[in-house]
Amino acid sequence: MLYETTIGLEIHAELLTKTKMFCSCLNESEEKQPNKNICSVCMGHPGTLPVINIEALRKVLKVGLSLNSNISSYSKFDRKNYFYPDLPKGYQISQYDNPLCKDGKLKLFLSDEENENQKEVKITRVHLEEDTARLIHPKDGKSTLIDFNRAGVPLMELVTEPVIHNGKEARLFCQGLQILLKDLDVSEAEMEKGQMRCEVNISLKPIGQRELGTKVEIKNLNSFKAVEKAIEYELKRQTEVLEKGEKVIQETRGWDPIKEVTYPQRTKEEAQDYRYFPEPDLPPLNVYKLFNFEELKKELKELPWLKKERIIKEYDLSLKEADILLKDSKVLEILEETIKILKTKNLDIKKATNLAKNYLLTDILGIKEKEKLTYQEIKITPLNFSKIIENIVQNKISSRVAKDILLEIIKTGQDPEKLITERSLETISDIDLINPIIEEVIKNNPKAVEDYKKGKETAIQFLVGQAMAKLKGAADPKELVKIMENKIKK
Ligand SMILES: [Zn+2]
Repeated sequence: MLYETTIGLEIHAELLTKTKMFCSCLNESEEKQPNKNICSVCMGHPGTLPVINIEALRKVLKVGLSLNSNISSYSKFDRKNYFYPDLPKGYQISQYDNPLCKDGKLKLFLSDEENENQKEVKITRVHLEEDTARLIHPKDGKSTLIDFNRAGVPLMELVTEPVIHNGKEARLFCQGLQILLKDLDVSEAEMEKGQMRCEVNISLKPIGQRELGTKVEIKNLNSFKAVEKAIEYELKRQTEVLEKGEKVIQETRGWDPIKEVTYPQRTKEEAQDYRYFPEPDLPPLNVYKLFNFEELKKELKELPWLKKERIIKEYDLSLKEADILLKDSKVLEILEETIKILKTKNLDIKKATNLAKNYLLTDILGIKEKEKLTYQEIKITPLNFSKIIENIVQNKISSRVAKDILLEIIKTGQDPEKLITERSLETISDIDLINPIIEEVIKNNPKAVEDYKKGKETAIQFLVGQAMAKLKGAADPKELVKIMENKIKK
């Protein structure tokens, strides 16, 4: 039988604010010392009162505006009651029936072989709540430790409509959302660090059946790969259950990234009633009175899907290249700044742009990945990078020399022009300098010369290589081939 898949996502992102959601404790996701950033408010001591963090509100509103959501003029916080050791108050302050943002959509703007149509995923809601503490389970299995630094950190929750059909779409959604959150400076959104977490609701029904199938929830997905793989696994598992004529159990499942399987965590029978009720210690919100929306819209700057269209056109990029640059805003910044400088020079700008793009995407990103460097360790500046490109376009240095000095200044940050002068790396085009070297190579390699004369074309490469070595790479290889051929034919 053929089945139709229905997938909805629930994504949590820790917001990049100075302080926590309802108190003045620092919000430092990298803090190593446990229980350092805590106070009587976020520890839930009796008699303490929460105060709303306006910066957190602003960040969620920016997300809502980017997604074209309806921003509610009446919104409120609610208590979600449940007991768990990571929840010091015994309830979480969240938003239930009046979230800040309702509806909205996010286009899957990243490219993938099968995603050229840029599907739009409808968003149900985006709201604001507080994070829980972090439970740490030491390997001895005898105890559990609690770090309350995370308790009360502002958390954005985004829920999509169940309109996603497979693992790849879900991954592209999460990756696109991450780029948006980073670009808006709303969250660092690193899944591996738990700054962005994804839960998947997934059900299968025979094609043509009206009502949805039984919903299964998958938690603990802490990478994009896990999101995609867990969904693909679960689709296979549920299909097999249905094919056997059995029923899918409504439950929450976890993801084992090593075995690449989902496993049962808890069934519906144990699910709780959260007894939501309005938070009595916080006033309802009218964000239109709190914020100037014209100002807020200006803070959105260039949204990533629009940026993608622009950079493809401006720098003649493939879809894949544009995606690499969107995912890594630092590298895009280097490219844009470099090209800005190059445009002030009297150069073939199309050629310069192409060179800059290629050196950046292959050489600079290549070495960054290979040697696992951070951007702090990459010392190249747009100014130095533009100098290298300028020298290549003007035929002052060969591409081999360019690659060599590029590798060096990535790590040292030296001025490329100083390097070129100091080491005499400028392309030698002086024929009086090149001629004697070519003649010497011909004299010293009679066998290769004979081979070439007999028709072995590759022999010329060997001879040019010898000459290039003597010229320390500072010559135009095409020029050398020409001179070499002429000399041998004589
Ligand atoms: Zn606190």
